[in-house]
Amino acid sequence: MKVLVVGGAGYIGSHMVKMLLAEGHEVITFDNLSSGHRDAVLGGEFFLGDLAGQAELDAVFVQHRPDAVMHFASFIQVGESVRRPDMYYRNNFSNTLNLLDAMVAHDVKHFIFSSTAAVFGEPDYVPIDEAHPNRPVNPYGRSKWMVEQILADYDHAFGLKSVCLRYFNAAGADPDGLLGERHDPETHLIPLILQAASGRRPEIQVFGRDYDTPDGTCIRDYIHIVDLCAAHLLALQHLIGGGASERFNLGNGSGFSVQQVIDTVEKVTGSKVIVVDGPRRAGDPARLVADSTRARAQLGWEPMFADLEAIVAHAWAWERKFSGDCLFRSANSQRKTRTSWNVTDQLNGIKATKIVAQEYVEIFEHIHEICRNSGEAHRIIEQLVERLKL
Ligand code: UDP
Repeated sequence: MKVLVVGGAGYIGSHMVKMLLAEGHEVITFDNLSSGHRDAVLGGEFFLGDLAGQAELDAVFVQHRPDAVMHFASFIQVGESVRRPDMYYRNNFSNTLNLLDAMVAHDVKHFIFSSTAAVFGEPDYVPIDEAHPNRPVNPYGRSKWMVEQILADYDHAFGLKSVCLRYFNAAGADPDGLLGERHDPETHLIPLILQAASGRRPEIQVFGRDYDTPDGTCIRDYIHIVDLCAAHLLALQHLIGGGASERFNLGNGSGFSVQQVIDTVEKVTGSKVIVVDGPRRAGDPARLVADSTRARAQLGWEPMFADLEAIVAHAWAWERKFSGDCLFRSANSQRKTRTSWNVTDQLNGIKATKIVAQEYVEIFEHIHEICRNSGEAHRIIEQLVERLKL
């Protein structure tokens, strides 16, 4: 089958592309690379394009004639959505409408939508099933809920069949170690704690210890990225097999507190993490745990990596690879050694070593020396590699 993966260069999208290719599907990634990474797209066709541009969308549909579309390209930060609702309604809502209209125009009838637990808002009860009322409390959640509602209308009017997958907390990394989380800035709990464990950041802040939970920190349902992608494959089969439009909540059904996640990271990494207590983050419900009975029953979905330690272990393997092994192993090593090792490691990570001339490598090492913050150096180098088309 031919699948158009919109946002296939991002965290979840890139894992999805890898899984679709492994399952023998033809994949076309459509991404504007505003936050994704070209080198995270491990195969298939790549189409650099923006959902805001109807001509680009038309071109990809005419050129590739996909059987189905999976849509991962959205903004994902709750706090940012409160400050900049315009961005969230423009991208997550209006641009998605462009995509749906292109599907209708080109007669593509199967759509899988990345939705979120944020469509529920402050829960009346946990675990949260699909019957739970939808009362999103921020523009991010509202933008996703609006799309879900539009999808019902598009099914009715145009016969466009969709599956909305409400992710709880996507986490972990590709077990083969080829892909992982590379958000910039990173805001998610597990990668942030791992970066504190690897030395890429000095500490982790806990947003509130006065919640009504056993240890006072927020409880979330962490779901492995591979399990999440597996649910998309099953949803695709469901639609292609003539199934009706559906909405599914996706999580493991067990909640872990922020403190439990920190403890698990310390256990898996063997590193002590510096923890600073901070105030609550606006819009954070105390508990979000999924009831995924419907996905299990209707799709036959069964998580493979329900264990938090497995999720953290895969994410840790990625963090070590990405941040540079020696940076995590020895904070005391010579800066010169660390610098050259990290640049080489990073270039390896972006598969550019063979074609990067020595003078560029030296420039990158110089950048690394100037930027004492290695995270910043990583970002600049990646942008340069992309801009210079190395
Ligand atoms: N969190 C935290 N410190 C951080 C980032 C997150 O204490 O630096 C908490 C956050 O308040 C929430 C949980 O960790 O309770 C998971 O947050 P994340 O941003 O990873 O996902 P969300 O639940 O917002 O989708």
